[in-house]
Amino acid sequence: MKILVAVKRVPDPNATIKVRPDGTGIVTDNLKYVVNPFCEIAIEEALRIKENHGGAEVVLVSVGEQVCQEQLRTGLAMGADRAILVLQDGDVEPVIVARALAKLVEQEQPDIVMLGKQAIDDDSNVVGQMLAEMLGWGQGTFASEVKLSEDKSSAVVTREVDGGLEDVEMPLPAIITADLRLNEPRYASLPGIMKARKKELKEIPLGDLGIDQSVQVKVHKLSPPPERQAGKKVETVQELVDLLHTEAKVI
Ligand code: AMP
Repeated sequence: MKILVAVKRVPDPNATIKVRPDGTGIVTDNLKYVVNPFCEIAIEEALRIKENHGGAEVVLVSVGEQVCQEQLRTGLAMGADRAILVLQDGDVEPVIVARALAKLVEQEQPDIVMLGKQAIDDDSNVVGQMLAEMLGWGQGTFASEVKLSEDKSSAVVTREVDGGLEDVEMPLPAIITADLRLNEPRYASLPGIMKARKKELKEIPLGDLGIDQSVQVKVHKLSPPPERQAGKKVETVQELVDLLHTEAKVI
């Protein structure tokens, strides 16, 4: 069994993000980058499948700049077997990521492609769904539990949907996207970090995959959220009710 895991490098969710004054992007100087948290959950799930179902090869894939190596090494230190970095400068829009992944699926022939449900930088929530459509595979998105059949020919994915859970079954190969409650990712151990240095990390320029790279969506402008007003202290309940009526206009 082979599991391909798509891993995106994103700004640390705990960092303070500032928008550039001209609105063309965010300020990246001194910004810390990490593995997208949902991708970390996807890596963990792939490792658990490997450990609980008699072994599997876990292959990480990232599309982006050379520095994405850092996040791939983190995943290798968690226990993944090897990694592929598809090199491309600048932002890569989701449809191009999906096309690159589809091409690698053709070459690697995995049984499962695991992704995060969304990347926390642009919150697109589309790559897994587009990839399933391109490959004609079944998809279990927003997964909070994954159960493989004994012969590993199918999977039951419990999905987090509005107001509850939904169990869907699909034959493998399939696409699974990880939601927050699927698992708690492990930390890389020191021996894991040492081993990761020697694991294979292959680089392929995006241009070598021979995919359509035409841009379909252009980001026009980013705007920061409006600054929060300072709070007000009130002395009485009546004063609060009056303010809710006259200023907040919620009653
Ligand atoms: P998105 O649809 O952009 O919100 O991303 C959903 C998931 O697609 C992410 O959690 C990753 O698993 C994968 N993904 C998105 N962009 C990339 C990228 N540049 N490289 C690798 N995987 C990506």
